[in-house]
Amino acid sequence: ALISSLGGFGGLGVSSLAYKTHRKRHSIAFHLKRAIAKNELSVVFQPKICLASGNPVGAEALLRWNSAYFGFVSPEVFISVAEKKGLIRKITHFVIEKSLEKTHDVMRLRPEFRLNINVSIQDLMDPDLLTFIIQTADRFDVSLSQLVFEVTERSAGDDASLAEVVQKYIDAGVSISLDDFGTGYSNLAWLGRLNASEIKVDKSFTQSIGTGSINQTMLDAIFSLLHGLDVACVFEGVETQEQADYIYRACPQALVQGWLYAKPMIAPQLKKYLDGNDDDVF
Ligand code: C2E
Ligand code: MG
Ligand code: MG
Ligand code: MG
Repeated sequence: ALISSLGGFGGLGVSSLAYKTHRKRHSIAFHLKRAIAKNELSVVFQPKICLASGNPVGAEALLRWNSAYFGFVSPEVFISVAEKKGLIRKITHFVIEKSLEKTHDVMRLRPEFRLNINVSIQDLMDPDLLTFIIQTADRFDVSLSQLVFEVTERSAGDDASLAEVVQKYIDAGVSISLDDFGTGYSNLAWLGRLNASEIKVDKSFTQSIGTGSINQTMLDAIFSLLHGLDVACVFEGVETQEQADYIYRACPQALVQGWLYAKPMIAPQLKKYLDGNDDDVF
């Protein structure tokens, strides 16, 4: 998927896959380094919805890169390159600043609205990030309690020091969400140690509904696990009414995100969407 989504490198032919991967990462990094200055990065917002009422309760900021060289590149590809090549810090700062610039008025109007922003573990471990968040929220006059930072555990790290860092964020008044729960290393130890206020169940589980696959069996186990926990549960990737109904029966208090409700959209569209769906929620 990486190769087919990136045009330019299909023709290296005889060279080894490892070599191609190395070259490609290098080239992505080269162009990504210039992407902010070239105005190629932007942020879109996907509403997060209360399943029972159908009302939006917030949105997730998702980064987009429209590269003059490659065309659209998926964040699944370039974020991991950015992490490996030392570019993630600058990108994360960009996403925080840009998403607050685009939504601060929406947030001030709706004190219950939560903005979710994805960050890497590397970012969390950077002692300056929290300071940057506090300064940026202050600059745009946004309450820290309206910000939720989503983290995905991609490698088996040091859970104890991570828990300590997470606690600093919570003490500062922002929330932490465990993204892509059920995949990678985002395991049960995380749930116990991290003081997260939200869990996002990975879309591979949502999309297993009706398939009878092993993932659907695991989803049923996740439902009973979440039952006893005092955290908000978000199910990502809801595309069909069948999936929504199945989630509702098992978890009526669930929050949902997915194409059935709304695709990621630019900020002016988000405003229209919220205006059309506001009643008594905000
Ligand atoms: P994620 O945080 O788990 O985001 C959910 C992904 O699912 C998004 O893909 C979203 O567009 C997609 N999605 C939402 N609803 C549906 C649906 O109904 N069906 C399907 N098939 N997909 C749906 P996207 O935007 O391509 O982002 C992919 C991943 O890239 C994100 O996964 C996140 O891990 C990462 N990412 C995106 N933006 C940022 C960012 O600003 N910073 C960091 N560190 N990572 C980011
Ligand atoms: Mg996310
Ligand atoms: Mg996710
Ligand atoms: Mg994901």
